[in-house]
Amino acid sequence: AGRLQGKRCFVTAAGQGIGRAAALAYAREGATVVATDRDAAKLAGLGDGIAAMPLDVLDDAAVKATIEDNGPFDVVFNCAGFVHQNDVLNCRDEDWDFAFALNVRAQWKVIQAALPGMLAQGGGAIVNMASAAGSVKGVANRFAYGTTKAAVVGLTKSVAADFVTRGIRCNCVCPGTVDTPSLGERIAANASTAGSVEAARAAFVSRQAMGRLATPEEIAELVLYLSAPESQFVTAQAIVIDGGWTN
Ligand code: NAD
Repeated sequence: AGRLQGKRCFVTAAGQGIGRAAALAYAREGATVVATDRDAAKLAGLGDGIAAMPLDVLDDAAVKATIEDNGPFDVVFNCAGFVHQNDVLNCRDEDWDFAFALNVRAQWKVIQAALPGMLAQGGGAIVNMASAAGSVKGVANRFAYGTTKAAVVGLTKSVAADFVTRGIRCNCVCPGTVDTPSLGERIAANASTAGSVEAARAAFVSRQAMGRLATPEEIAELVLYLSAPESQFVTAQAIVIDGGWTN
C-alpha cells in the first residue's frame, strides 16, 4: 500500500512547479488529492486520483467553500506564493500587500478552513511553503519575499504549538532555488541586468553549492515525507532543502 493510502490531501497552486509535483507524489502514494490552482488550465492532465479544481487562494469565501465541500482533509499543502524581486527602497506598497496576502494570509485562511475537519477526525498534517530566503538567509533583492517567508515560519510554529496535543502537525519547507516555470520568468526579468538569459540563469545556479538547481520532484519528496505517517514525531519545523546554499 502507498504511504498515503486512504488519505485525503488538499494542495494549493498545484498547476505547475512544486505544487504539481506534490499532488502527483500524493496520488502515487495512494491518496485522494484535491489539486487547486488559480489557473484552471494548468491543472489539466494530472491523472487518476486527483480532482482538479480552480481556486484563487486570495478569495476567502472560495477557499472556505472548496475546503468544506471537499473535506475533511488529512493533509494540507499550502504551496501558493509569489516571488517579488525588490529591496526595502523600491518595494511598492502594492508589492508588500500582495506578498503578505498571497504568501502568508492565504495560508492562514486555508488552515482556518481545514483545521476544524482535521480536529474532528482526530488529526492531520499541514505543510506550508516557506523558503531558504527569509528567516534562514537574507537574500539580495528579496525584501518583500523574504519578509513574508520568514512570517510563514512563525505561522507554522504557532499552529503547531496550539494543536500539538490534538493530533495536528504543522511544518514548513525552505527550498533553495528550484527549476520551475516561475523561475524562468525571474531569469527572463534579470536578463538585461545580467547581460543575457544564460548569464541570469548561471547566476541562480552559481548560488547553489551543488552547482545545480533543485527539481520540483526533489522538493515534493520532502513535502510528502512531512505529510505522511513516517514523520509523525516531526512538528513545528522549518526544514531546509537547498543543495548546500545556506551552508
Ligand atoms: P510557480 O511559481 O512556477 O507556480 C505557481 C503556481 O501558483 C501557478 O500554477 C499559479 O497559477 C499558482 N497561483 C498563483 N497565484 C495563485 C493564487 N492566488 N491562488 C491559487 N494559485 C495561484 O511554482 P513554484 O516555483 O513551484 O513555487 C511554488 C511555491 O514555492 C511558492 O510559494 C514559492 O514562493 C515557493 N518557492 C519556490 C522556489 C523556487 O525557486 N521556485 C524556492 C523556494 C520557495
